[in-house]
Amino acid sequence: MPIDPTLPYDDDNIFARILRGEIPCQKVYEDDWAFAFEDINPQAKVHTLVIPKGRYVSWDDFSARASDAEIVGFVRAVGEVARRKGLVEPGYRLLANIGAHAGQEVPHLHVHIFGGEPLGPMIWKR
Ligand code: 5GP
Repeated sequence: MPIDPTLPYDDDNIFARILRGEIPCQKVYEDDWAFAFEDINPQAKVHTLVIPKGRYVSWDDFSARASDAEIVGFVRAVGEVARRKGLVEPGYRLLANIGAHAGQEVPHLHVHIFGGEPLGPMIWKR
């Protein structure tokens, strides 16, 4: 079920629990601002999720409320994860789903990093 990105942050969402170490994950990277781990149901050869450490429901929430330092830290972390995965030269794709039309399922901002193979068209066409 897609989430409503206008609801308040839920401290029990699955990514909050991963951040607190309550649920295991395949960790890829961590710094002061961000945490990255492998998606449990990969949609490409490389499918890594990067999340901010702060309590933000979506990109909408983050872009409106996060501090400049949080935004800079998070954006740099996404790039760093892609570099560490060797994705820059072959290329990669970033995706952030926000709300129902995009099918966002977890109410903690996450950027998907896809790569490791040609990724096909940018968006699904009927
Ligand atoms: P969304 O549709 O919200 O943009 O993406 C949520 C993503 O989180 C999905 O790709 C899904 O496979 C992944 N996911 C959901 N639950 C877990 C989990 O417990 N662990 C990990 N590693 N990924 C998860």
